[in-house]
Amino acid sequence: MENKLSKINNFLKDNKQFIYSVVLMLVIPSVIIFNTWLFSQSFKETVDQSLRDKAVGISQSINISLADELDSQEKLQSYVNNWKKFSANQELIDEKYEDDVVALDIFYKNDENFKLVASFDKDKIGQSYDSMAYVIAWNSNWPSAQKIIDHSNNKYYWLVVSPLKNSFGEKQALLVMTISASAIDTSLSVALTRSYIVLIFSVIVIILLLFANSRLFEHALLYQKIKEIDQMKDEFISMASHELRTPVTVIRGYVVMLIDDAKKMSITGEALEYLNTIKISTERLGDLIEDLLNVSRIEQGRMKIESQIMDAYPIIERTVSQFSVQAKEKNIVLSCINDGLESSMINIDKDRFEQVLINIIGNAIKYTPSGNVDVKVRSKNDSLFILVKDSGIGMTAKERERLFEKFYRVKNPKTDSIVGTGLGLWITKQIVELMGGSISVDSMEGVGSLFTIEFPLAKEKQKEP
Ligand code: ADP
Repeated sequence: MENKLSKINNFLKDNKQFIYSVVLMLVIPSVIIFNTWLFSQSFKETVDQSLRDKAVGISQSINISLADELDSQEKLQSYVNNWKKFSANQELIDEKYEDDVVALDIFYKNDENFKLVASFDKDKIGQSYDSMAYVIAWNSNWPSAQKIIDHSNNKYYWLVVSPLKNSFGEKQALLVMTISASAIDTSLSVALTRSYIVLIFSVIVIILLLFANSRLFEHALLYQKIKEIDQMKDEFISMASHELRTPVTVIRGYVVMLIDDAKKMSITGEALEYLNTIKISTERLGDLIEDLLNVSRIEQGRMKIESQIMDAYPIIERTVSQFSVQAKEKNIVLSCINDGLESSMINIDKDRFEQVLINIIGNAIKYTPSGNVDVKVRSKNDSLFILVKDSGIGMTAKERERLFEKFYRVKNPKTDSIVGTGLGLWITKQIVELMGGSISVDSMEGVGSLFTIEFPLAKEKQKEP
């Protein structure tokens, strides 16, 4: 039992949005149905009221017409006959005509009871009747109207009982009329049917809308779940890269020691070659781990940027010089040019800034089989520009568009043999932007590439690196 309850509880917790939609699906149509029912009830009451007033009105106008003829039974019957004849004629002229007055009787008060003196139904004339409603109306001196329902045909009528007075205000007879409500009943039921049709239609539309909405909720849930899984993936990559970093560093250290020892022992040939291959592969693995760590730091907002204002040019010069051996090995002329610099004071995190330079200059050398790599630094319009230009393989305009995407690598015969992760430029762009700068590229296939990094110049000089 407890297990069942906790299952239900879990289901409710996991499907909050779904349950919310179902509740809305039930509540909104119910409110509309209730509202329509309330409206129809009050509409019926209003119609009843006006029908009652109309019935009383008819009885009073009959009284006015008959005020001087109340003591003559013949005249009363002739009035009743005329009424009937008029209705019959109307029905002949117009098939749809339906007289509201279905029974019209006039009584004289006869001691205890009432004697019928004029009626649509001539056979009943002369009969005596005793009715509470008649007595009440007679004694109250005022017309009374009472609703009666004929269950056999599901119709209802108004029974109007009104004392008839002569011109001197003396009671002389009693009028009893049965007025049909069928005409109004029909129009009322037509109006109600219409409003029920509109009601059904709007309920269907609302249910459809809510159904579509619940699918939106499902998508929102799915999106939430995907985000959670994505976060788990990021955490896993971060954790795995951390765990991999230490053993790779240890392997790299021992391989370097082994190579040194081998050189000391004058070991050459295949053994040394194998050791060098291990060293290169471990370095590549280390770089990949470092890239993955940087990606997860940036994506999780953990990349620490501790900026301070410093002179960038000496840092650039030093970083360029670190590549001189690598450039020489590839027959590349590497230069660092101060292009009329007025100031190179910018607000940066030194380590991250170096990381950016290493990536861009490293790429320039990596993707230039031989030729030139020039690093030009200039200041213009309150900005510092670092231009890294190479005469390497370059790239097409289409390739350039996706260059700063994560894991994007240009794939062609020229890049096939060059190893990389496709993460360097994405990381570089993120770091440059985190430090308030921007990076752009211009390139031409077979001619070379130009990467431009721009940083706003700092207003005051603070610290030399
Ligand atoms: P990778 O690890 O592949 O070098 P990057 O993100 O640093 O990853 O660079 C993405 C891609 O951009 C590279 O694979 C390469 O095709 C292209 N690229 C980057 N720098 C240059 C350059 N200086 N010249 C030509 N292509 C370049």
